[in-house]
Amino acid sequence: MDSYDLDSLIICHKCHTLHHTMEIDYKSKVYCSKCKTVLYQNNPNLLNIILSISISTMILFIISLLFPIIEILVLGSRESFSLPSMVLMLLEKQYYIVGFMLLFLLIIIPFLSISLYIFISIFIKFKISPNITKQLLILLSNIKDWNMIDIFLISILVALVKLLSYFELNLGISFYALILFVIFDLYLNKSIKIYDLWRVYQKNFNIKKEKKDFLENQLVRCHKCEAVNIDTDKEIDCRRCHQRIYHSKTKSINFTLAYLLTAMIAFIPANFYPMLITYKFGNRTQSTIIGGAIEMWDEGSYPIAFIILFASIFIPIIKFILILFLVISSNKDIKKVDKQKIYYITEIIGPLSMIDVFVVSILSSLVHLSTLNIVAGPAASAFAIMVFFTLLSALSFDTRLIKHR
Ligand SMILES: [Zn+2]
Ligand SMILES: [Zn+2]
Repeated sequence: MDSYDLDSLIICHKCHTLHHTMEIDYKSKVYCSKCKTVLYQNNPNLLNIILSISISTMILFIISLLFPIIEILVLGSRESFSLPSMVLMLLEKQYYIVGFMLLFLLIIIPFLSISLYIFISIFIKFKISPNITKQLLILLSNIKDWNMIDIFLISILVALVKLLSYFELNLGISFYALILFVIFDLYLNKSIKIYDLWRVYQKNFNIKKEKKDFLENQLVRCHKCEAVNIDTDKEIDCRRCHQRIYHSKTKSINFTLAYLLTAMIAFIPANFYPMLITYKFGNRTQSTIIGGAIEMWDEGSYPIAFIILFASIFIPIIKFILILFLVISSNKDIKKVDKQKIYYITEIIGPLSMIDVFVVSILSSLVHLSTLNIVAGPAASAFAIMVFFTLLSALSFDTRLIKHR
């Protein structure tokens, strides 16, 4: 039996190795002893850095919402496209599933997460209210994985290549603001560890430490706030953020399989129905995801064809197989396979599959002329549903089932 303050422990988010934290020098970082990932850092200026970057990020985000991202010039008239106009257009044309999903992933979540960074750093810095700060940190821990604005930027570049074959283009102010925004936002989300924020929170508000008795193989990591918890083999909630860490084993498998099955069913219409419908001088042509990729290949845009095929076909299939493998092998100990790594892969590759839905949304909200009109096909909604349920399926998978000890 060991006895430690649980907040002095950290479990690596990549390889699940347990470490004891220690006081470290100014501006130094601590790496995982097994996989060399950064675990935490000591930066006394952390709050000031977060505050200044998140305020700049917010300004860039507002600019990228207000002005056009791309303008196309056709016969003297211009059509422009911005993030809000794209969402409005989708909702107006009654693409409710895709419209609301984009509103949520590309506008509400980024806005909320930057605001949270601003408020959390101000609240901790000036020691305002430990309770409200805690609630804000919990909210941030919950939404940070749903930010897809970086994937949207890749989609804009793909859409640009498609548009260039039809039109003369102008890039708007928002295009450049969006690139800077994505860089700053990536910095915030990837390099500021949520664990560091909780550490500073506990230090500044003098949250008292308490020692607990436990066996080392009982410890588990909350994947929302990264707190170390004691696994009692029952349903447990995180001691810090109160999120459910473990369901009962059968419940977790049932949810994972139900979401996965829904995603796999949605994957069928997503591939058989048209993704993109084009009206050129009144003639209707349509293409499925694979058809669209083949078209791009024939036109010589090999990298784009490859990105679309990889993101929309291979990634979903790989993810289905990996999750199924994790579920089926959950009671078996397969020595040669690192299941933690497989789970980590399913978590990070998921958002990439949204690329084609974003591209289709951009094209259909920008190109609606009398001579050429592009609309999203029924596959777009099916595809969006598929991505959403695959994400849910991976999230509801109980990582206790792959604990390798
Ligand atoms: Zn590690
Ligand atoms: Zn937690």
